[in-house]
Amino acid sequence: MKVIADLQIHSKYARAVSKEMVIPKIWEWAKVKGIGLMATGDWTHPLWLREIKNDLEEMGNGLLKLKGKSGKFKVEEKDPLFLLETEVSCIYSQGGRLRRIHTLIWSPSIDTCEKINKKLTSMGANLMSDGRPIMGLTSRQIADVVLTINPKCLIIPAHVWTPWFSLYGSESGFDSVDEAFGDYARYIYAIETGLSSSPSMNWRIKELDSRSIVSFSDAHSGPKLGREATVFNVEELGFAAIRQAIMEPSHRKLTNAYTSANETKNRIAYTLEFYPEEGKYHYTGHRNCDVKQTPEETRKKGTICPVCGRKLTVGVMHRVDQLAGRSEEELKLGINKIDEIRANVHYSQTFANRPPFMMLVPLAEILAEAIGGLPSSRNVQNEYSKLINYFTSEFAILLSIDQADIAKISGERVAGAIDRVRKGEIYVDPGYDGVFGVVKIWQQGKSEDKTQKREQMNLF
Ligand SMILES: [Zn+2]
Ligand SMILES: [Zn+2]
Repeated sequence: MKVIADLQIHSKYARAVSKEMVIPKIWEWAKVKGIGLMATGDWTHPLWLREIKNDLEEMGNGLLKLKGKSGKFKVEEKDPLFLLETEVSCIYSQGGRLRRIHTLIWSPSIDTCEKINKKLTSMGANLMSDGRPIMGLTSRQIADVVLTINPKCLIIPAHVWTPWFSLYGSESGFDSVDEAFGDYARYIYAIETGLSSSPSMNWRIKELDSRSIVSFSDAHSGPKLGREATVFNVEELGFAAIRQAIMEPSHRKLTNAYTSANETKNRIAYTLEFYPEEGKYHYTGHRNCDVKQTPEETRKKGTICPVCGRKLTVGVMHRVDQLAGRSEEELKLGINKIDEIRANVHYSQTFANRPPFMMLVPLAEILAEAIGGLPSSRNVQNEYSKLINYFTSEFAILLSIDQADIAKISGERVAGAIDRVRKGEIYVDPGYDGVFGVVKIWQQGKSEDKTQKREQMNLF
């Protein structure tokens, strides 16, 4: 079975997160989006863990389901399940430099979470401070604590290219997984790409060849759930199957691609990605100085700001170039189709074992451009609800519903816009230094045509 999973989010107990991020609401949004497996987020926070225990029940397979209480929620078989996930922010000195690393921890049981929380507290972490707690432990120490308590937990470096808070971050990260995790690096089976990098950028990094590349939303509000996601293909959904799917590339490497009786059929089918150019740190630049440079420009001009003279925030593209062990040409990228989805997927001919990925634009953004208005405006929201009511979920609409059927509900222009996104026929103005990039389905000239047409229509 295939399941769309979003395994990194935050609860209302984390900074700058919507007060609506409570379990029942997260569950409702997961259904709207079409997510089958959802992160709980923030289990290191004692009050949030209490809410998790109140609202969810453990199923005995390492996952949790919503408690079917007092008819308030109808728990059906296909409803979203939850996996215990948290993110910790480690700030420490290593090799004479300040490091700030965000790391995901997935746990197969509440009991394990409680033991880890107890241990982290005894080591000085203030878990009540935030849903994503800051602590002075090193990445290696985190791995040591977690895997000593339960070796079945998974530790996944989060949004690995973010300049300020990540494993490969240009400002406060490391140059390799080994450098960050030392002797625990071999237990790091996956990295999370973050919004500003695509899997193909990560395929250029040689030390990731034996590791999975996963994508999740890191959402701070319901509408952002699933803006990136990983689709797992598992025999029977449970924590163990997800873990095996994550570990599959490292197994393949160890067993030298021999098929053995133990070989897992659980694997990652594909990932669903934000356009990396839309991420906040794609290019190098300074927001306040209005300076933005492509990697080529950065190679020529360097990383000093021509306006203020200070160091520019080095974007993800340039940083990947710095660490890459191979060029993009070596990957021999191509575009292909997967039977079950009506969209183009990107894959590598050289690394055929790598799960392919597809680039998405959130439905509300597509509608905003197709019918006019902001994604949060009433007419866009009404159209969104109409489509969801008709076709059950956002992922169904983006990935699999026939264009002609969408046209019957929302008209040719919306159906055409979704088709363009599926084919990747869109335009992106890249983000930099904390400024999100902007995606356009139609080129500037064409949308001006549209406004003109509308004005002309108004005249009659
Ligand atoms: Zn983070
Ligand atoms: Zn500047």
